[in-house]
Amino acid sequence: MEIEIQLTTSPIAGKIPPPASGAEGAWLEFRGVVRGEENGQPIAALEYETYPEMAEREIRRLLEAIAAKHPCLAARVIHRVGIVPVGETAIYVGMAGRHRGEAIALLAEFMDRLKQDVPIWKRRALPAAFREDDVRSLILPQKKIETPHVVSCKSLDEAIAEIISRCQPLPPVRVSLKESFGRVLRETVSAPEDLPVDDRSTRDGYAILADDPSESFQIVDAIHAADWKPRQLQRGEAVRVATGAVLPCNGVRVVMQEHVERNGDHIRITKREASLNLRRRGEEVKAGQPLVEAGARLDAGKLALLATAGCTQPLVSPRLSIAHFTTGDELVSPEQTPKPGQIRDSNSSLIHGLLQPFQVELGQTHLPENFDAAWSQLDLDRIARAELVLVSGGASVGDKDFTRPLLERLGFEIVFSQVNIRPGRPLIFGVNGTRVAFGLPGNPLSHFVCFHFAVTTALARLSGEGVPTSLQGRLATRLDDAACPRETLWPARLEWNDGSPQLHPLTWASSGDVTCLASANALMRVPAKVDSLEADAELEFLPTTGMLGA
Ligand code: AMP
Ligand code: MG
Repeated sequence: MEIEIQLTTSPIAGKIPPPASGAEGAWLEFRGVVRGEENGQPIAALEYETYPEMAEREIRRLLEAIAAKHPCLAARVIHRVGIVPVGETAIYVGMAGRHRGEAIALLAEFMDRLKQDVPIWKRRALPAAFREDDVRSLILPQKKIETPHVVSCKSLDEAIAEIISRCQPLPPVRVSLKESFGRVLRETVSAPEDLPVDDRSTRDGYAILADDPSESFQIVDAIHAADWKPRQLQRGEAVRVATGAVLPCNGVRVVMQEHVERNGDHIRITKREASLNLRRRGEEVKAGQPLVEAGARLDAGKLALLATAGCTQPLVSPRLSIAHFTTGDELVSPEQTPKPGQIRDSNSSLIHGLLQPFQVELGQTHLPENFDAAWSQLDLDRIARAELVLVSGGASVGDKDFTRPLLERLGFEIVFSQVNIRPGRPLIFGVNGTRVAFGLPGNPLSHFVCFHFAVTTALARLSGEGVPTSLQGRLATRLDDAACPRETLWPARLEWNDGSPQLHPLTWASSGDVTCLASANALMRVPAKVDSLEADAELEFLPTTGMLGA
């Protein structure tokens, strides 16, 4: 049997000639046309999505299996994917048989099994409120697609690689030391001089020549931390010194004041220690040595080091501006008491908290769940200034889920719209020049997961920081789970046991769970199709930003 399969984003032609091998028998054609209604609601279009290689393979396998029972001459299947407006053909099937009955039987069984056997999904229905122009503008132009179909579901590693390659570091700026907190240093800062710059006392006490065996010493001077009083000490002489004072000459030691008896301007040493009680010039850092490397996020300790080195205007990443939108008419603010059907918005607090270490400028707005109403409320100038746009919820395939068309109307090219993970599968990633957008699935645990592999990767890239990488740890207890066909990012509590990371899996049942968020400081990568893991099994994990304060 001759089989021809095509997955395309283009409209399917109205007339398609039968293949040569089907010419002498019966040629039967079927067209599935998008109807103007879905689940009782009027619609403007349907969107189909697929894994093209897998879909082609499964269509072929299915046709061959059915043809074993109902032998035919030729079969042709054309499936349109992406946006298909109402009235246009989504699937075309042509069957050629020696007799009409064979072709009918093959077609009937093929159509019955297509839905369950072949990975082509109805991703969403565009509501009838979409004007024809809007629908047309969403249809991907042929030039953007390398293979003639939409590929938008990625593995976790593919999704991370795509984010890394699509996000570029933004041009750096010079700001004051205090303003630079939380930003990424974009040039390595080296020590302009030795640290410390002089030999200094680490004690309040008396400086004497290091090898002076005298019993008694005359106090000839006093040096405080701010003084600069060089003098060559002689045997039997001592100088009173304060902690941090620059020592008067080379070759001295400091005797702690607790180890002397003082009598007027004389001292007698009551205990001789091995320690010289001083910090030597350059003992910590030599001039020219790198202090903080480019790519480091500046925390309090690094700012202290830059301050010591006199780096007062570090070259750092710009403060990122982020626009975060929540969607969902069921949401009320945490202050309110939800009515039946309503829930409190937790994602705004989650996102706000997760972004704290990045020192961004964050604007948070709630949008109504009607596309036109939401669009009319957008502050387009503010959005145009945002380097990162985050939309919570509406990323999936429900009738009201409009994140994808919203981002597309804002000019974002959608790079992918699903990641083959659990939880957090419907994650949308879009780019518009140097600007980046994510449509995050609304469930809180999905939010947490998607933030930690996707948003953090984008933030790191835009800021010029090294991207977060997986670490290796060991399972503290056995993990039992129904084998999932997708990789799972499993919330866990990371604890250190004799210096090695031990991962305690947290209990969760649904991506809507919130309780585990309060304890999670790691996400374990549980491979697809694994149903149990023994205690002590080695696993990769992603640390979460919560680890900082854990
Ligand atoms: P969605 O992605 O819009 O289909 O939402 C999936 C689930 O997440 C639904 O049960 C929503 O009610 C819930 N959800 C969406 N947004 C939020 C939010 N901001 N806070 C808490 N739950 C949310
Ligand atoms: Mg929603």
